[in-house]
Amino acid sequence: MAEAAGGTAGPDHGGPASSRRGAPARRATPTGFFRGYIFDLDGTVYLGDALLPAAGETLATLRARGLRTIFVSNNPTHPREHYAAKLTRLGVPTPVEDVITSTQVMVDFLDRRMPGARLFVLGEEPLCTALRAAGYTLTEQPSEVDAVIASFDRTFVYRKLQIAFDAIRAGARFFATNPDPYCPVPGGGEPDCAAVIAAVEACTGARVEAVVGKPSRHMIEATLGLLGLPARECLMTGDRLETDVMMGLEAGLSTALPLTGATTASDLADSAIQPTYVLRDLGDLLPPSPVAGPVAGD
Ligand SMILES: [Mg+2]
Repeated sequence: MAEAAGGTAGPDHGGPASSRRGAPARRATPTGFFRGYIFDLDGTVYLGDALLPAAGETLATLRARGLRTIFVSNNPTHPREHYAAKLTRLGVPTPVEDVITSTQVMVDFLDRRMPGARLFVLGEEPLCTALRAAGYTLTEQPSEVDAVIASFDRTFVYRKLQIAFDAIRAGARFFATNPDPYCPVPGGGEPDCAAVIAAVEACTGARVEAVVGKPSRHMIEATLGLLGLPARECLMTGDRLETDVMMGLEAGLSTALPLTGATTASDLADSAIQPTYVLRDLGDLLPPSPVAGPVAGD
């Protein structure tokens, strides 16, 4: 079994904040190992199509110690096989079962609350395929729709909005996969699920009842369930304060923010959301030891 979770001797372990709003960020790093490690992907493990510094070595070291590594993404436009294959191609061999996207969380959410529901999906084909594979019927007949599912949808058109409008006015429930306003892409961004939610809310007056991706409890509960570990024995690592770090903090996990993605040291200093640890890169997750020291840096 792994060592006791993360650095019980360290003053920074377990606290929700390592600095206060407006104060310079204090760069604390773990002094021990956790039993479970949950990683965001883009901006945390890789950026675009390349691993970030120290990511491959750190993941290999954690796994060699028998510690669990799970990857979470809010992006419902790719099946989780896509992410497992990408990690594997980049040198981090990863089984499909170790990836959770907002699509899997939506299936789990519906299975618990509305098994067998008939759905109208404002989303792309991978989400539709996953919902059908889980046994759900998709329909474009508003009177048949039990729940409208809003998502990141680059195939969004007025006809879909009309169906969602009619279905919700006829009593359908309204859920969404993720709360992201846009998805960063090289050179800019693409309008994401929040824009689709806003369109439906604006015309119906309804408010989305649940958004299951990060930072929701649905996402972290599904992830901890997969790990089979209590929150206090896991570390959530991700580059976004409002999603990755917020989700971990609210669920009682220690959190780590790598300064390799969306959040700069200046952003961090100005935020009320403060992670337990701040990392130059994932190499800082490894406590100093003769066999597993952090990579050279600053
Ligand atoms: Mg990210």
